[in-house]
Amino acid sequence: MAGKQVIPSSKLISSVAKKSSQPINRCYQCHKCTGGCPVTFAMDIMPHQVVRYVQLGLEEKLLESKTIWQCTACHTCGSRCPNGIDIAAINDALKQQAITNNVKPALPEVRTFHEAFLASVKNNGRVHELGMMLAFKRKTGTYLQDVSLGLKMFRRNKLRLLPKKIKNRKRFHTLLQGEKEG
Ligand code: SF4
Ligand code: SF4
Repeated sequence: MAGKQVIPSSKLISSVAKKSSQPINRCYQCHKCTGGCPVTFAMDIMPHQVVRYVQLGLEEKLLESKTIWQCTACHTCGSRCPNGIDIAAINDALKQQAITNNVKPALPEVRTFHEAFLASVKNNGRVHELGMMLAFKRKTGTYLQDVSLGLKMFRRNKLRLLPKKIKNRKRFHTLLQGEKEG
């Protein structure tokens, strides 16, 4: 059976470069990013390939990949790259694009976690771990998973009952709005 036809997007490189603020054009495929990435064992597209696929406009392949959700944003790639390219920022831009385009995520639970995290930060200006985890568990129906770990963290005062909001939330929302429109 013939494979699915891939239609490259001519706009992908400029939109991802703008959203991620990364000099994607400078990548010359030296593979240093992939050589240092601790999560390649779980990825379906290697970090150097992410950059190459963006250059080639292979939007569908990227947005449907596990890699964009698997990246832990450890920034090892960025610290090793001779051209200062941070692939975590590129993956973040691709994740947002996948959400905007309503692409079925390769790792739905990671996407749900990502959305719960962003919603918590948007509401409070910083993450409220307990609220974020409850929102995640409500959406995934995994209420009983990690209960003992949660209780341990609670006893050690690692989980606040109520969120602590930042002071200047108005300015924070103005910044978020600018980011959305940018
Ligand atoms: S380390 Fe930088 S230049 Fe080398 S392949 Fe990765 S992104 Fe490209
Ligand atoms: S930021 Fe992501 S792509 Fe880069 S080294 Fe870490 S896990 Fe790998």
